[in-house]
Amino acid sequence: MSFDVAAIRKQFPILKREIDGKPLIYLDNAATTQKPQCVIDALVDYYSTCNSNVHRGAHRLADEATRRFEDARDIVKNFINAPKREEVIWTTGTTEAINIVANGLGSLLSSGDEVIATGMDHHANLVTWQQACKASGAILRTVPVTDSGELDQGAYDAMLNEHTKFVAFPHVSNALGTVNPIKEMTAKAKKVGAWVLVDGAQGAAHGHVDVQDIGCDFYAFSGHKIYGPMGVGVLWGKESVLAEWPVWRTGGEMISTVTLQDATWNVLPYRFEAGTPNVGDAIAMAEAIRWFSALDQEAVAAHEKALLDHATELAEQFEGLTIIGTAKEKIGVLSFVMDQGHPADIGFLLDRQGIAVRTGDHCAQPLMARFNVPGTARASFAIYNTLEEVDALFVALKKVQTMLA
Ligand code: PLP
Repeated sequence: MSFDVAAIRKQFPILKREIDGKPLIYLDNAATTQKPQCVIDALVDYYSTCNSNVHRGAHRLADEATRRFEDARDIVKNFINAPKREEVIWTTGTTEAINIVANGLGSLLSSGDEVIATGMDHHANLVTWQQACKASGAILRTVPVTDSGELDQGAYDAMLNEHTKFVAFPHVSNALGTVNPIKEMTAKAKKVGAWVLVDGAQGAAHGHVDVQDIGCDFYAFSGHKIYGPMGVGVLWGKESVLAEWPVWRTGGEMISTVTLQDATWNVLPYRFEAGTPNVGDAIAMAEAIRWFSALDQEAVAAHEKALLDHATELAEQFEGLTIIGTAKEKIGVLSFVMDQGHPADIGFLLDRQGIAVRTGDHCAQPLMARFNVPGTARASFAIYNTLEEVDALFVALKKVQTMLA
């Protein structure tokens, strides 16, 4: 198998769009990726042929919807190499997945316990642990970020101790693109007996995820960042932990028995899936995973590396532009500031040229403060981007520079 970017692009209808008569150059993939036709078709097909509420249905449509929904769970299980399908919990996305874990953990923490997060976390990770610690009296420690945008491993080592109950860190930084050494960090946390959550929102779309190899307790990711729909995601958690974890939302599906005074809980995964699930989007997310997994992963990685290497090279030659985040292990993201112009102006003027980037703090305000910038402009790449689009970004940035001079 090889990688044919033109053939990939043809599968994404939105890439035919023009913005003010210019071809769309979509470089906002860390915020959300576009969807191939097969994912759109999977969603339409579900609603056109077998829409029904799942489980316990006495009719054909309910059976079909249930089968497709549970097959989708198996696809996720295989994608992340989870040992058991019961460990795959459908959520609305990474944010909800992290909140489920924080809710469970919160009730197990007490004063004097320590939780470790990081200075490069998305707010979905950081703020959630802040709240869990505030509510329980636990102490929150955060791993500092080095000048190159890596997690300071020496500081992390020094933080781990017998009071450390829980550690959470991103697989890949959404703001800088840094790929963290998640396996090593997990192994260190395990030595002191802590639970580990990896925020995989940016990691899952860029290659092979094997939760057993990582050794973590929880891995969270979102469908919409991996060529699937919005509003659906996954919490994977070890059965041995999740089965004991306090329930999250209560309601239908998650119960086993109910009396007027009390209730008992369903087995995994349903005990964490209260209410009617997002069946259509789960099926479409699984289709995205099926589609993505069928690609030659080595070729995908090489293509994404070529995009980032080319962008980095052009950025380094660009006078008046500073890259924020120069980690050795990086993927998919070029974050930068320019001497002239606030990131918001850069984004606005790029949009006028048909180029979509994200500007601002990228839900990582402490990280922006760490680098002493109000925010950055961020070009983030996906498999359908081309080297020509990277060239076009830098031609457009020259124009932006002239306009802002
Ligand atoms: N964590 C990281 C690293 C992210 O990049 C994001 C989204 O940008 C999230 C968490 C939250 O994901 P979602 O908004 O899909 O829940």
